[in-house]
Amino acid sequence: MAQQTSAGDLLQLVRTGSATTRGDLQRVTGLSRATVGQRLDRLFRAGWVREGEAASSAPSPQGGRPSLRLEFDDRHAVVLAADLETRHCRAAVLSLTGDVLAETSRPLLLSEGPEHVLGALGARLARLLKEAGLAPASVCGIGLAVPGPVDSASGTLVDPPIMPGWDGFDLSGRLARAFAEASGTTGASAAPVPVLVENDANLMAYGEQRAGWPECRAFALVKVSTGIGAGVVVDGAVYRGVDGGAGDIGHIRVPAGEGLDCMCGAQGCLAAVASGRALAARLRALGVPAASGSDVRALLAEGHPEAAGLARQAGRQVGEVLATVVTLLNPGVLMIAGDLAGTPFLTGVRELLYQRALPRCTAHLDVVTSRLGDHAALIGAAHLVVEHLYTPSRAEERLTALGV
Ligand SMILES: [Zn+2]
Repeated sequence: MAQQTSAGDLLQLVRTGSATTRGDLQRVTGLSRATVGQRLDRLFRAGWVREGEAASSAPSPQGGRPSLRLEFDDRHAVVLAADLETRHCRAAVLSLTGDVLAETSRPLLLSEGPEHVLGALGARLARLLKEAGLAPASVCGIGLAVPGPVDSASGTLVDPPIMPGWDGFDLSGRLARAFAEASGTTGASAAPVPVLVENDANLMAYGEQRAGWPECRAFALVKVSTGIGAGVVVDGAVYRGVDGGAGDIGHIRVPAGEGLDCMCGAQGCLAAVASGRALAARLRALGVPAASGSDVRALLAEGHPEAAGLARQAGRQVGEVLATVVTLLNPGVLMIAGDLAGTPFLTGVRELLYQRALPRCTAHLDVVTSRLGDHAALIGAAHLVVEHLYTPSRAEERLTALGV
């Protein structure tokens, strides 16, 4: 690394575990002992890095006391995160390393539009923070998961198929304002808290990959709830495609969908055949009361035979599309998540996937269900916010703003 290696760069090395002592930092960066010391002092003053136990009992190579282990200090701030679903929202306070510290889960209808929904969400987040005994100033950022394609640069949804009225709306700005109003931090000098918006399946994939499969270089997750969406993490980063549309597999037209209306307004989509909403409609036609994907989830949990049969059939239909996905990406892990994720659906996916995809692309593929469950998108959102705020260049700007 060049001589101008900043405090932000040193933080990155410590945070990722690439360097755990002052000696490591000197070796990796080529900086002198004194310069490493100066830059570390800034990180200590900000409370971002701490010195812990001795890294080993042996004396340091220069002699003298053993080198101490450097650690990212996750106690200096928290992240807020929310996972918006069609009729329901989960919100949480998380540590900078992705531990859920407090959470709430309550109904919230997307159909009421972004102005109302994000206003209510801002108030909900402020209340949750207060109940957790934390000050608004401790929040470094907010991550928001939404069930539609997102332009991450502008923080807006792009033509969301199931969210009429949300297209192009400034979600980041509205949520930042609502949180500031509800937490009483709307002074002229107060900078708005950064809000990052991302597609929910992308965040679930990111959270699950970071938590359970950090070494997996190509990770795919399919969420099957009210709708169907997929998230892909390649080389540790969310893969969005050129327009944020990557992974929106629910509205691929499939032969089995011919003549069936989809909630996006088109006919014949995969989601019209194999989503939680589609299965609820089919169960109602059989005389089984089921209003939504979460009702189907409850029926599957109690082993309802018709629900299980339909879920397996839906798994086969999704598996047919996933054969192409797997052949294109050759992932190490394919995770099935959402309301329908369970044995019957997974069996259906496997039946079609292994039949249709090339053996070369499935030989080392693990088809699994979620580990983080309902927390996956929240944990992914927290990691996304932290990766954004602590990249070397942004960390450097923030240290300067803190006056350290
Ligand atoms: Zn559709």
